[in-house]
Amino acid sequence: MNPTTSFQPLAGKTALVTGGSRSIGAAIVRRLAAEGAQVAFTYAGSAAQAEQVAAAIVAAGGRALALRADAGQPDEVRAAVARTVDTFGYLDILVNNAGIALGGPIEDIRFEDYQSMIAVNVTGVFVATQEAVRHMKDGGRIVHIGSSMTRYASFPGASLYTLTKGAITGFNRSLVRDLGPRGITVNTVHPGPTGTDMNPADGELARRLTPQIAVGRYGQPNDIANVVAFLASPQAGFVTGADILADGGFTA
Ligand code: NDP
Repeated sequence: MNPTTSFQPLAGKTALVTGGSRSIGAAIVRRLAAEGAQVAFTYAGSAAQAEQVAAAIVAAGGRALALRADAGQPDEVRAAVARTVDTFGYLDILVNNAGIALGGPIEDIRFEDYQSMIAVNVTGVFVATQEAVRHMKDGGRIVHIGSSMTRYASFPGASLYTLTKGAITGFNRSLVRDLGPRGITVNTVHPGPTGTDMNPADGELARRLTPQIAVGRYGQPNDIANVVAFLASPQAGFVTGADILADGGFTA
């Protein structure tokens, strides 16, 4: 459990996090569980890591459920939402975190990579959100993980990535109006460069980007999980439609 969490604002809540086996998603899963939520999460390939994340939560007295569901396969995403509701009885919180980063110079992007990016980063978010709101209680919470690069692309070759993340920002905008009457909030957290398997803190990209980060360090998965936990909490009921940067001033 997170030792900084002295109370459990999410006690009695059920959350579903997509892509929770590693990196930012795993930090979000652990944090929501530490705050008292029962947490289901999906993964695509990292079964062993997913089971470790779930086992650690259960060992600490929480409830967790690891579900294999490829975000790019709508039927699998819908089934993961159904399993979550079947297991825990209801759904309060959805975090759309699963994402991939393919791309390169626009002239060279393979169409298959475009299709994969749309399938996981856009269709996966749409389908998870649509299915979740069919089951979600009034007063629920939806948090998307976008990217600070929708605001500031500091290096070339990421146009396909920003296309997909920009789509989420647009999706969020009007969804707020659809779901506001039910008290369901919808927000997007935009991480800056964050040390993960996708973007290692000791990698070449980190070496180039760290000097551009105002606070002088790379992000850590918990930096993002902290913001998600607030948006998922009862205290955040008047925050909806927000694009929240968690980027250490990378885009300032
Ligand atoms: P990682 O690649 O380190 O981890 C990705 C996670 O998502 C893994 O748990 C992985 O599970 C899961 N995942 C990947 N593809 C699928 C899929 N098709 N279906 C289900 N789960 C999937 O990524 P990060 O933690 O770095 O990124 C998390 C999110 O944050 C992404 O949306 C990313 O775009 C965004 N982001 C990251 C930044 C960074 O600097 N790291 C900056 C800005 C945004 P498995 O291994 O089982 O496939």
